Amino acid sequence: MKAKFRALRYKYRADFLEFYSEFTYLAMEAKIPEEDWREELFERLPDSIAKLALPCFLDDTRTFDEFVTHCSRTTSTIDTIEKNKDARTSARSGTGGGGTPSTSRGGTGTPARTPSTGRTASKTPALDATARSKLFTEGKCFTCQETGHMSRDCPKKPTQAVSQLKILERKENDEEEPEKDAA
Ligand SMILES: [Zn+2]
Repeated sequence: MKAKFRALRYKYRADFLEFYSEFTYLAMEAKIPEEDWREELFERLPDSIAKLALPCFLDDTRTFDEFVTHCSRTTSTIDTIEKNKDARTSARSGTGGGGTPSTSRGGTGTPARTPSTGRTASKTPALDATARSKLFTEGKCFTCQETGHMSRDCPKKPTQAVSQLKILERKENDEEEPEKDAA
């Protein structure tokens, strides 16, 4: 475990807090006294971060926790700088830019449909389930509500459906160009 602790290094651009939790775990396992943690941690930082963390490291008024926070901030600052550098380079080569615009598409719930009310009316009878079952038990036609035949045999049904379709078609044509009518 001690060897593992010695081998531990903060990898450049890694998650510092992840590194820190591994550091504390291995430090405890290796039974490193806590007063040495500060120095042990400092030695594991790459030069660029160690340089920035040095004043805090040398400042005796800072607690170990404060030093850790300082290191964490320093690494994330450096990461941000490096990432911005990357973004600039990739932007120059044309592949950069923000994330894909994901919010504009999709979930606005039910979109406002075309105002034609009866598009499916020729397929779905206007009667609700209760009325239909009532007519069914009474042996009446769903379409004309007369006895003696079923809805599918209804003599009034075909013409009704055709005329309904024609009405719908006319309605749709009217609604497609409302601006022309208005003008
Ligand atoms: Zn009928």
